[in-house]
Amino acid sequence: MTGQDDSTIIVMRRDATAANIDHIVERLRDIGAEAHVSQGQLRTVIGAVGDRAVIQQLPWEAFPGVERVVPILKPYRFVSRDFQAADSVVDVGGVPVGGGALVVIAGPCAVESRDQLFATATAVQQAGARILRGDAFKPRTSPYAFQGLGEKGLQLLAEAREETGMPFVAEVLDTRDIELVSSYADLIRIGARNMANFTLLAEVGRQPKPVMLKRGFTATIEEWLNAAEYIYKEGNHQVILCERGIRTFEPQTRNTLDISAVPVVKGLSHLPILVDPSHSGGRRALVPSLTRAAVAAGADGVMVDVHPSPETAQVDGGQALHPTEFATLMDEVRAVAKAIGRKA
Ligand code: PEP
Ligand code: MN
Repeated sequence: MTGQDDSTIIVMRRDATAANIDHIVERLRDIGAEAHVSQGQLRTVIGAVGDRAVIQQLPWEAFPGVERVVPILKPYRFVSRDFQAADSVVDVGGVPVGGGALVVIAGPCAVESRDQLFATATAVQQAGARILRGDAFKPRTSPYAFQGLGEKGLQLLAEAREETGMPFVAEVLDTRDIELVSSYADLIRIGARNMANFTLLAEVGRQPKPVMLKRGFTATIEEWLNAAEYIYKEGNHQVILCERGIRTFEPQTRNTLDISAVPVVKGLSHLPILVDPSHSGGRRALVPSLTRAAVAAGADGVMVDVHPSPETAQVDGGQALHPTEFATLMDEVRAVAKAIGRKA
């Protein structure tokens, strides 16, 4: 491609017809550009990707149904607010994430056994969590540490879903496991260590389940949004971001929770953003304050590690809340949400 490969947004009028939209999509394809159609509640916008000089040769504003034409200068396009002004709402097994109500995801870091998972799942559900977390594949710093139960773990999560009615999120580490994880989980998670694994991102963009993308611990917000774009541009528009702390010079916490990422991302992108207070602070004592701060900052929800006996946990016991502590935290979450006019 010659010239500047960038994108242009063609904003349609509210009364534009399907034929008006098809006509533009066809003309874009004729000139070798890609057309990505986004149907909003009020109006449709068409993202035209290709050589901007070529795209701009056509008088788009004179086409029937077109309201205006806006160039996008950001390196990420479809996840940006320029492309879609309204907040995206992602459906996770019947639970909406984004767009108003606050969602709490909770559960053990890793699935260890049926008893451990079921005890946690029932407790977090009773306390008000809507989505269960639990991993079958764990990215561990040491290759000798517990790596997860694999498919057996996914089966237990599916049973816990049957039992409680809660959809679940689980991490996928490798392209070879995407089909397996996707066949069980309601929401697939890409962890911090894989945020820049572009092959994995594109591949989860081509499967049907929604994806939670955690921020890499050395990634800037722009790098993170570009990573989300890798998923989105493959056709999977159900992307949820999750801030989980970044690596700084401060050793008192496992990572430094970048609370400003919440309002910054809200300004730049229409995607929902969650906060993981457990992997940020890395210490149980910090989880309540970080959770309250995340809700107050406008996050669409939080994802919290809970374990029935944190002292015996095989993974991340030091940051897991006991179910009773989680129940107390849920009361606080509801109170903070109410104070800022949100439902929890
Ligand atoms: C996790 O949520 O279990 C996890 C491994 O988090 P992160 O990828 O943010 O380190
Ligand atoms: Mn963990």
